[in-house]
Amino acid sequence: MKSYKMFIGGTWVDAVSGKTFPTVNPATEEEIGQAALGGPEDVDKAVKAANDALPGWSRMVQSERSRIMSRMGAAIRKYAEEFVDLEVREHGTPIMMAKGFAAAGADNADYTMALSRALMGQVFPSLAYVKSYLQRVPIGVCAVITPWNVPLMMMIDMVAAPLVTGNPVVLKPASVNSLLGVKFAEMMETLGLPPGVFNLVTGPGGSAGVALAAHPGVDLIRFTGSSETGKEIMRAAAATTKKVIMELGGNNPVIVCEDADVVAAATQQAQRHFGNTAQNCSTPGRYYVHEKLYDRFVDIFAEQVKKIVVGDPADEKTAMGPMANKQQMKKVEYYIESAIKEGARIVCGGKRAAEKGYFLQPTVIADVTHDMTVAREEIFGPAAAILKFSSEEEVIRLANDSEYGLVAGVWTKDMAKALRFTEELRVDSVYINMPRTMATEMTWGGNVKESGVGKSGNMCGLEEFTDLKMVCINYAP
Ligand code: NDP
Repeated sequence: MKSYKMFIGGTWVDAVSGKTFPTVNPATEEEIGQAALGGPEDVDKAVKAANDALPGWSRMVQSERSRIMSRMGAAIRKYAEEFVDLEVREHGTPIMMAKGFAAAGADNADYTMALSRALMGQVFPSLAYVKSYLQRVPIGVCAVITPWNVPLMMMIDMVAAPLVTGNPVVLKPASVNSLLGVKFAEMMETLGLPPGVFNLVTGPGGSAGVALAAHPGVDLIRFTGSSETGKEIMRAAAATTKKVIMELGGNNPVIVCEDADVVAAATQQAQRHFGNTAQNCSTPGRYYVHEKLYDRFVDIFAEQVKKIVVGDPADEKTAMGPMANKQQMKKVEYYIESAIKEGARIVCGGKRAAEKGYFLQPTVIADVTHDMTVAREEIFGPAAAILKFSSEEEVIRLANDSEYGLVAGVWTKDMAKALRFTEELRVDSVYINMPRTMATEMTWGGNVKESGVGKSGNMCGLEEFTDLKMVCINYAP
C-alpha cells in the first residue's frame, strides 16, 4: 500500500518516527493508503518552519499576498477531479455532492482573496498634533485543525482566511481524511508560496493535535469539531493565551407552527436533512411540530425519506452514502437504540443498509419527547427526531433549552410571529420558511453558548485573523 508524506517547510518528509497509519474507504472498509504518523516532533518542525516564514509573509503588502493567494481558486478547479475522487473514496461523499463541494470551495477561495484587498485599519481623532491610527496586522502562526465531516470545504475555508491575512499555517486534517489532506497540500504547493507559509502534518488528534494546541510557537488556533474537543484545545491554548476561533457542536431546532405550509416544510426539510449523510453541524437535531400538524408532517417527511437512494458513493444516482467512519456509525446506532428504549417510535429506517461498509438507513424517529437522549444530544448522522408542541411560548423555551446555539428554522405564514422567533431563539442563524442554505458570501458560526467562538465567512471571518495595532505619532511644531 502506498505511503504518503507530510509537507513541512516546503519539502515532503516522512514522520520523524518513520511510522504510518492507514485510511479506509467507508463504503468498502478497504484500506486506501498509508499516511505519515506525525507526532509532537513533527509538529515542532512544522511550527518552526511557519515561524521562520512569519516575518516575510506577515509583512508582505496585502495586495501582493492577495495576488499570490488568488491562484488558489484556479488550483482547486485544476485538482477538482482528484479531490472528488478522494472525497468519494475516503469520506463516502456521493459523487454529485463531492463535485458541488469542490466547485463551492473554489468559489469560496476566489471570494476570500478578492475580499482581502478591502481589509483596512482606521485613523481616529485624538490629541492635538498627534496622529493615532489602528493598523491591521496578522496575528502570527496559525494551527488549523479540521474535521472529517465536510473535509475539502473545511480545509479550503479554514486555510484560506488565515493565509491571505498574513498568518503562516500548520494544517492537521482529521485522521480519516489524511490522504485528502496530502492532496490538498500538493495543490497548495503549486501556488508558489514561500517555504514554511503552508505546512501539513498528518496524525492523530491525541498526539499531533494536542501538540499543536499546546505549542508555544503557535499564536492562534482555528478548529472545527466537537464542543468537547474544542474545550480541550482551549484548555491547552490557555497555557500561552492563544487566540482560538472555533466552530463546534449544534442541536438545531426546526419549528413548524400551526399555520405553516406543512407540505413544503416536511418535503423540503426531509429532502435536505440527509445530505452528506446528515453529518453536518447545521443538520436539524429536533423538529418541533405543532400538535395539529404533527401526524401529517411525520407522514409526508417519512414518505420523502423512503425515496432517498442509499448506495455506492461513486454512483451518480446515489443521494446518501455511508457514514464517514465506524465509530460514528456506532454512535448513531446507539442513539437509535436509546430512542426505542426511551419510548420513541421508528417510522422508517433504523437498521444497517448494507452488510459491508458503514451504511445506515435514513431513519425517522417520531413521538420523541424533549427529555429523551436523542433530543438532548447531537446525533450527527442519518436519523431525524420529531417532537410535538402546543404553544409558541412552550416551543421557544424548549428550543432554547440546549447547551448549543448554532442554527434554527421556523415555518410559519405569519411574519410577525417569524420575527418574534428570530429575536427569541438563542442561535447564530435563523432560517424562515426554508431549510438551511449557504451562499459563499454568508457568515456562519458564532459565539452562542457552546457552539463556537468567533465568526467565519465574509469580512468578519477575515478580520478574526488580524489584530489592530495602535500607533501614535507626535508631529507638534
Ligand atoms: P473531534 O472534534 O474530536 O475531531 C475534530 C478534529 O480535532 C480532528 O482533526 C481530530 O483529529 C482533532 N482532535 C481530536 N482530539 C484532539 C485534541 N485533544 N487536541 C487537538 N485536536 C484534536 O470530532 P470527532 O471526530 O471525535 O467527532 C465527534 C463528534 O464531534 C461528532 O459526533 C459531532 O457531534 C462533532 N463534530 C462536529 C463538527 C462540526 O462541524 N461542528 C465536525 C465534526 C464532528 P483526529 O481525526 O485525528 O481524531
